[in-house]
Amino acid sequence: MEKLAINGGRPVRKTPFPAYRVIGNEEKKAVSKVVESGVLSRYLGCWDELFYGGPQVRALEKEWAEYFNVKHAIVVNSCTSGLYCAVGACGIGPGDEVIVSPYTMAASATSILIFNGIPVFADIEEDYFCLDPESVKERITERTKAIMVVDIFGQPYDVDRINKIAKENNLFVIEDCAQAPYAEYKGKWAGTLGDIGVYSLNYHKHIHTGEGGIVVTDNDKLADKIRLIRNHAEAVVGDKGVTDLVNMIGFNFRMTEIEAAIGRCQLRKLKALAEKRIENANYIANKLSQLQGIKPAPVRGGCTNVYYVQCFKFNEDVVGVSRDKFIEAVKAELVHTELREIEGVRIAAGYVRPLYLEPIYQNLIGYGKNGCPFKCPMYKGKTRYEKGLCPETERINDKVLFSHELMHPMMKKQDLDDLVMAFEKVYALREMLKD
Ligand SMILES: *Cc1c(COP(=O)(O)O)cnc(C)c1O
Repeated sequence: MEKLAINGGRPVRKTPFPAYRVIGNEEKKAVSKVVESGVLSRYLGCWDELFYGGPQVRALEKEWAEYFNVKHAIVVNSCTSGLYCAVGACGIGPGDEVIVSPYTMAASATSILIFNGIPVFADIEEDYFCLDPESVKERITERTKAIMVVDIFGQPYDVDRINKIAKENNLFVIEDCAQAPYAEYKGKWAGTLGDIGVYSLNYHKHIHTGEGGIVVTDNDKLADKIRLIRNHAEAVVGDKGVTDLVNMIGFNFRMTEIEAAIGRCQLRKLKALAEKRIENANYIANKLSQLQGIKPAPVRGGCTNVYYVQCFKFNEDVVGVSRDKFIEAVKAELVHTELREIEGVRIAAGYVRPLYLEPIYQNLIGYGKNGCPFKCPMYKGKTRYEKGLCPETERINDKVLFSHELMHPMMKKQDLDDLVMAFEKVYALREMLKD
């Protein structure tokens, strides 16, 4: 009788899945040109035309702004630094609160701490895993200054409802769009849905420059501040005649000309890469939805999902075994993705532990050892990071959601079929997983 690989049977697949490789000849040529010019960066950290960077950086900014139909695009060296710029530009400081999703990559929340603001975690939506507008409303206090929304897994947040709440309460909306370039909400690009949006160009993302990020906004004042924070604001404000010194302690978040040249080539590939992801994700969803108790997470009405990660919902009662056991068995049928050997095959029960359960929040240790900024005397609220704070997030991550990254565009039909077959095999033989 056929046995599951986890019980010593023959696995569905023994060869690694293909790595995500999107750098081609266009990028090679563009990089060569920059290297031959000998000018790898042209920024000056003082008040001058070159405060804004060299020709490749400026061209990438222009092309990105045109592509996404937004007034300003500001290139930085990571999405994390872009989020720092965004939070800083909004004037967040000691005593302020920013509402943020706990179901995201750590930087969405730590960008708030960088300016001594306090992350306030609200719960997520059952179907789309983005911030739940009702929970956001409950978390608003007189200290709230902004909402940090995350277009998690590749689809936009509930723009209509969250933006309305923000407007009524005079809050900024910062959109962490690291996972959703090319997604749309009712005909508008993700990343341009709030006051400031931030994209990632790190090497895991849809398009990349190795490391990199881009901040976009239609607001001239915010754009100005973002550019100052990117490039040693404190050394520039005097000569530039800037009088508002709030958060003008600058950084160096400058991207080099080499990465910017790569970014320009990558932008031209975004459409094809995103569409291939959608095609692969739909193929997998169609097959796996044949299995009772396993459902693809829905796409929000009026939106596109560009699948940084593809999510499914697992119903333990219907399938008859726990999600964790089931996913462990599926993983045993497959092998890792090339270049990501140590992480194993990129299928996961859950996604991340809700951020407030991480040690930094549990121990309230940010700057130094005495609880700054959580216990800052300028902060008049009370931090809340206890287990149970966002019950829906915890339930989804502990019991319901499983996710995978194997819809990426380098996956061939045979690769997708192997993935599907692993699920079908474990499903058919799931009785063997029962104690
Ligand atoms: C990848 C990611 C980031 C950070 O991007 P970097 O460019 O690596 O700094 C931030 N937020 C989310 C949701 C991400 O997925």
